[in-house]
Amino acid sequence: MAPNAPSVPSIALNDGTSIPQLGFGVFRVDPADTPRVVSDALEVGYRHIDTAAGYRNEEGVGRAIAESGLARDEVFVTTKFPNDGTKHAPEALRESLDKLGLDRVDLYLIHWPRPRLGHALEEWQNLIELQREGLTTSIGVSNFRVADLDLVIGETGATPAVNQIELHVEFQQRELREYHRAHGIATESWFPLGGGEVSSAPALLEIARAHGVTPAQAVLRWQLQLGNIVIPKSNRRERMSENLDVLGFQLGDDELAALSAIDLGEDGRRGSHPDTM
Ligand code: NDP
Repeated sequence: MAPNAPSVPSIALNDGTSIPQLGFGVFRVDPADTPRVVSDALEVGYRHIDTAAGYRNEEGVGRAIAESGLARDEVFVTTKFPNDGTKHAPEALRESLDKLGLDRVDLYLIHWPRPRLGHALEEWQNLIELQREGLTTSIGVSNFRVADLDLVIGETGATPAVNQIELHVEFQQRELREYHRAHGIATESWFPLGGGEVSSAPALLEIARAHGVTPAQAVLRWQLQLGNIVIPKSNRRERMSENLDVLGFQLGDDELAALSAIDLGEDGRRGSHPDTM
């Protein structure tokens, strides 16, 4: 185990808790590889793991945490409720906890709003109850649009701690980020590396060169300085270290502005759309 896990900053959540700003995502990590991949991530210093019932690798995440020797409160664990109509959140979270081998997660998210099914509000009420029962410390959502957030906040008065959304240098989600800021919701970015192809924008390559870092490191640093939570994924140990090694340099205001100008708006979206998922 890494004797000196880097001191990743924490982001304060609206429920009084906090989350490590830089974590490790395990989407598309093969279940059979997950124990090795997550063990490597913990060894190089990650203390925040982002999984989901839909990734089918919660068992491997749980095994790696159990075998790490780390205390439960040293690792922040997020998992997600599919909201696909097959089961309700109370049953799904208990199944996830069973697979993870944990008695609570740190953050439980509704993975997609799935407007065509129309269950988001009912399941958000279920998450509020699960938090009361202590099965999850914090509750939040993922891929929620402004209308979805308005609905759950308006009907329950409970504001999600986090909205985890596609967000990268070519797709910057300005409207949602502004909504989050106004409502005290933390923005968590999926596809922080664009899902693999970061961006070949000349401004990014130039900024990376100027700091002696890779484009991946430059965009992760940009996200951290914007205040976003990031959860890059890699199967490769050297890239895990690279993506964690973004705390020792600082981008200037002009560099932040140049990276923000790479935004392609809706044309930059690379993942599934919440309207139709
Ligand atoms: P990322 O943006 O993290 O990109 C991961 C890809 O980039 C992999 O192909 C990886 O390849 C490659 N990569 C990793 N590090 C580097 C590097 N330093 N330089 C170049 N390439 C690199 O995409 P993800 O889809 O994994 O998103 C991150 C996390 O967000 C997920 O793992 C998941 O936890 C979450 N997520 C949530 C979603 C949601 O709906 N809520 C949807 C999608 C993701 P390799 O492994 O070979 O290194």
